[in-house]
Amino acid sequence: MTDSTISHDKLARRGLLFILSSPSGAGKTTISRMLLGADEEIKLSVSATTRPPRAGEIDGVHYYFVDDAEFDRMVEEDDFYEWAPVFGHRYGTPKGRIRGALKEGQDFLFDIDWQGTQQLYQKDQQDVVRVFILPPSIAELERRLRSRGTDADDVIAARMERARAEISHWDAYDYVVINENVNACFAKVREILDAERMKRQRQTGLIPFVRELMN
Ligand code: 5GP
Repeated sequence: MTDSTISHDKLARRGLLFILSSPSGAGKTTISRMLLGADEEIKLSVSATTRPPRAGEIDGVHYYFVDDAEFDRMVEEDDFYEWAPVFGHRYGTPKGRIRGALKEGQDFLFDIDWQGTQQLYQKDQQDVVRVFILPPSIAELERRLRSRGTDADDVIAARMERARAEISHWDAYDYVVINENVNACFAKVREILDAERMKRQRQTGLIPFVRELMN
């Protein structure tokens, strides 16, 4: 046996753009945080938004909170992979160092809506993995939104309406997971990520190893 038979996990592979979308309240943010806590190889693509921060949200960690003028400037300077209006505010994915880091094997997690997913997929079909999280029922979705206690009734009604619209785009995703139980849902999302990492075309670092096996 030679040294090349050890630590295959460490062999270079191309990173992926792992998108989690769902109607708000379906648990995507919780799943995202669990994934970031459990998996060292993936990091969050932090979006810029014109929405004001909610309690506990930190600038540069959850979002880059910018004003309208700053967002306009970023659009003009072509700083975004994609951006979209959501609930009267604008949200966008900064290009940052994503492209270069992908080549180095860094995975990125995106917590973005269907509009952003579509735009990102059009730009980079090879690296994008699209996962949609569904609530177990509409009643449960509403209960979860209300139990947050952060939004007024009219905001909840608008979010419920938008949830239905968001769900109608489920057919533009590669994977669909129902979030009945957060731990079970998380386990499924991890399985998807693990399997996608093993796709042959991402495992560029295996080429010399396989050549050696064939000789
Ligand atoms: P929230 O205000 O609850 O954090 O997010 C509202 C919605 O905006 C969510 O559906 C979230 O996925 C979406 N969103 C967050 N960041 C981005 C982004 O960079 N681009 C797009 N298109 N949607 C985003």
